[in-house]
Amino acid sequence: KPIQIAIDGPAAAGKSTIAKIVAEQLGYIYIDTGAMYRAITMKALSERINMASNEEAGKLLAKTEIDLQPSEDGQLVFLDKKNVTEAIRSQHVTKAVSEMATHKLVRKHMVELQKQLAKDRGVVMDGRDIGTHVLTDAALKVFMSASVEERARRRFEENNKRGILTSLEELQVEIAERDKMDSERQVSPLRQAEDAVFLDTTTLTIDQAAQKILKLAEE
Ligand code: C5P
Repeated sequence: KPIQIAIDGPAAAGKSTIAKIVAEQLGYIYIDTGAMYRAITMKALSERINMASNEEAGKLLAKTEIDLQPSEDGQLVFLDKKNVTEAIRSQHVTKAVSEMATHKLVRKHMVELQKQLAKDRGVVMDGRDIGTHVLTDAALKVFMSASVEERARRRFEENNKRGILTSLEELQVEIAERDKMDSERQVSPLRQAEDAVFLDTTTLTIDQAAQKILKLAEE
């Protein structure tokens, strides 16, 4: 049976960077589920739908195609066949995504897609509800976190590299707000699964964190 690894945790904890390395080392595919919520949010913003409405979100999903494709440079994201891999990282989308992710219809749709993507293959999947709702039988579940200051600092550097201008203060507020919304929503809130291993990456390098997970995967 192929091995499935679920990595959950709050925003900017290093999940995607580390999950990508772990997947590469093991020869598995890497799936960043946040990208799917970001893609539908980007479309909702451009179509100016009522972001607070579960029904409108459901209608929008019915006419939307979200496709994730693993590539050598990491995961590519397509929204209605258009490559939106970079565009979904904008602050505009980041600030709106957690509201979109509260909707029951959105979550149901995404969880089904994610289960399909992971079916019968070695996979490292990261998100907020992977261990609790998507890959509930995963061989390894990790809940990754770091202090909010450290997470804001990391996101600041990442944004700089992407050419996205933000201040450290603005990022700290945005990250804290997103975590609050993600952990307080009604449907599958951000939680550590009972059988997940907690990993605090505040003082770890990317490589150290990846090595810890690889070691856990061997056990
Ligand atoms: O991982 P990333 O920061 O790109 O995720 C963006 C947002 O998508 C999260 O803040 C959360 O609101 C939502 N999300 C989710 N469930 C997941 C992955 C992401 O609700 N499995």
